[in-house]
Amino acid sequence: MSKATPSSPTVGFVSLGCPKALVDSERILTQLRAEGYAISPSYDGADLVVVNTCGFIDAAVEESLEAIGEALDENGRVIVTGCLGGDETRVREAHPEVLAVTGPHAYEAVMSEVHRHLPAPHDPYASLVPPQGIKLTPRHYAYLKISEGCNHRCSFCIIPSLRGDLVSRPIGEVLAEAENLVNAGVQELLVISQDTSAYGVDVRYRTGFWRGRPLKSHVQTLAEALGELGVWVRLHYVYPYPHVDALIPLMAEGRILPYLDMPLQHGSPRILKAMRRPAASERMLERIHDWRAQCPDLTLRSTFIVGFPGETDEDFESLLEFLDEAQLDRVGAFAYSPVSGAAANELPDAVPEALKQERLERFMAHQAVISAQRLRARVGREIEVLVDEVGADGIVARSAADAPEIDGLVYIEGAADARPGERIRVTVTDTDEHDLWARAD
Ligand code: SF4
Repeated sequence: MSKATPSSPTVGFVSLGCPKALVDSERILTQLRAEGYAISPSYDGADLVVVNTCGFIDAAVEESLEAIGEALDENGRVIVTGCLGGDETRVREAHPEVLAVTGPHAYEAVMSEVHRHLPAPHDPYASLVPPQGIKLTPRHYAYLKISEGCNHRCSFCIIPSLRGDLVSRPIGEVLAEAENLVNAGVQELLVISQDTSAYGVDVRYRTGFWRGRPLKSHVQTLAEALGELGVWVRLHYVYPYPHVDALIPLMAEGRILPYLDMPLQHGSPRILKAMRRPAASERMLERIHDWRAQCPDLTLRSTFIVGFPGETDEDFESLLEFLDEAQLDRVGAFAYSPVSGAAANELPDAVPEALKQERLERFMAHQAVISAQRLRARVGREIEVLVDEVGADGIVARSAADAPEIDGLVYIEGAADARPGERIRVTVTDTDEHDLWARAD
């Protein structure tokens, strides 16, 4: 391993897309630093620029192509990686002058392209890379990627064709990384993958080792072990397979956060079938009621697509009824937009654009009332929050119900000596449909 010096070859880095892409970026950055490259925050000082792209929906493709164009204009030497890199023809059609194109989670391919176009410095020296790697997120929270790829074939999604089938990381490796992060001061681990509840399916729940103990590569075992680390553990992208029920007691006992990010996408069985969603027929409402009975503080976040091909007025009404029944806490929604290469593009009965937008507005207005009511019920309660920022205007924190970047914030009065990354207890004084206000106890 080498250390960066003022004359080190310098790589500019642009990271676009979802938290999963962010984790890929962190790995590439860690490797670059390990080999003695310097990382530049601007295009000017860089010898070349790596752009980690997103290709999930057409808007993200456009954003990625623009970012590549900007890097080419500003710097001229660009290597493309990430989801959009899976479609090299499209990248090269728009930008024939890029140096190289590599696909998603292709760390080795990116590194070999960097080596080809910007040789690594020869400076054997002690590693400057901390064992927890380089984090792009603030030091007190970090994403923990447990697998790559996905075994499902949802008709609107091209991720499996870009990223391949599910490949779970060995449980010992995941837990060692989590432990390193915690030792480095991380207070919240955000578990991510394309399908967290499927963890280990591809390796038949193979046994690995951590702290000398045999552990099965299974989401429940993983959650239990992460719960031993004494930090917040938040699960993202959990599909409602039956075995997810076993996670709820861990939440009720406070071993992991009572938070489930479960992309449900629709409430009508007919549309869910057309979407080919995993575990779509798993008696969702009944189970949500059961989960809440066991763990009243459970926060449920979900995302939905309205205006999917073939969605009738009745389907849409049943989606609104589903929202009424499910009483979800946090909800994101999109109007369906076709993604090149997705099977859903072949489905008949596309919903007209104006109707999609009208349904999206009705959906959001409907859910906004539910979210606001659920938040309002928290006024007067004492909760634990994790401080994100301390500034001149006060303290900004998050509760167990708020994942960074996607959910709400807690604005705090008092506790002037609190520090980012600290967990404190506060009493909720006010809410709107998104955020909380609180007083330090
Ligand atoms: S579960 Fe469906 S939407 Fe999610 S990555 Fe897999 S195919 Fe795509």
